[in-house]
Amino acid sequence: MINYHEPLFRPPSEAFSLILQVTLGCAWNKCAFCEMYSSKNFTLRKDEDVFAEIDSLSAQANNIRKVFLADGNAMVLSFDKMSRLLDKLKSAFSRLTRVSAYAIAKDIEAKTDEELRILAEKGLKLLYVGIESGDNELLKAINKGENFESTSHALQRARKAGIKLSVMILNGLGGKKYSRQHALNSAKVVNEIQPEFLSTLVLSHPYGEDHFIKKFNGDFIPLNTIELIAEMKVFIENLELSQSIFRSDHASNYLILRGNFPRDKQEMLNRINGVLDDPANAQLRPEWMRGL
Ligand code: SF4
Repeated sequence: MINYHEPLFRPPSEAFSLILQVTLGCAWNKCAFCEMYSSKNFTLRKDEDVFAEIDSLSAQANNIRKVFLADGNAMVLSFDKMSRLLDKLKSAFSRLTRVSAYAIAKDIEAKTDEELRILAEKGLKLLYVGIESGDNELLKAINKGENFESTSHALQRARKAGIKLSVMILNGLGGKKYSRQHALNSAKVVNEIQPEFLSTLVLSHPYGEDHFIKKFNGDFIPLNTIELIAEMKVFIENLELSQSIFRSDHASNYLILRGNFPRDKQEMLNRINGVLDDPANAQLRPEWMRGL
């Protein structure tokens, strides 16, 4: 049996996966917009505790195909610790097809090419990375602890090692001042990485806008709904992806967009242009529904 340490987060696409908490909190925990793990001190859980939870699931072992490693950046585990964990999962769940985790670029950079390749072979198939932006000025303002170059380098190494990537960009993250450079440089970094999955979320303020503004090291003037969508237009226009699945359908998004790049790029831009040309009649997700 698993006793989760709340709060617990997972990507929407891991709804049917076994969630295994191998760390508690986020090892970085300093991004200006993020309060997900602010109530937790970062901890690496002991192998014996995690392995006992895995053993407790033996009766359901045949039903477990996917495992998501929580919390914030489980990829922070050392190569040896991650390797032991993947071996344990493989022996416990014979029908396992995929292990995934949240990661930050420095977690990938801490491992050699050979180590990344071995982890992929042992079942680590997918990393979710909130890169948020490709704009260095903005990444500094939000205290991401990464920049364009570190993000692009680390994520390309992971892909070359055989690990798929699902990356997230935060629409509206820089407000009016940084909007254009955020959109352009985010498209540029995503183009370099060529992730298998790309999604955008809209910046939200769980503790209120003032709380975020105090932590934002720059001038933050929020975008209105139409400006958020105009930012998406610049971002999508500048994406050159050879084979990526795109989703902008999280609860935070006003305009729901889904498609495959490159095939559906123009269709998504047509939808955005339709909203920008006639905002009064646009079919946007209302504010009350975004809060659901
Ligand atoms: S790295 Fe991710 S989980 Fe950690 S503080 Fe930043 S956004 Fe939050």
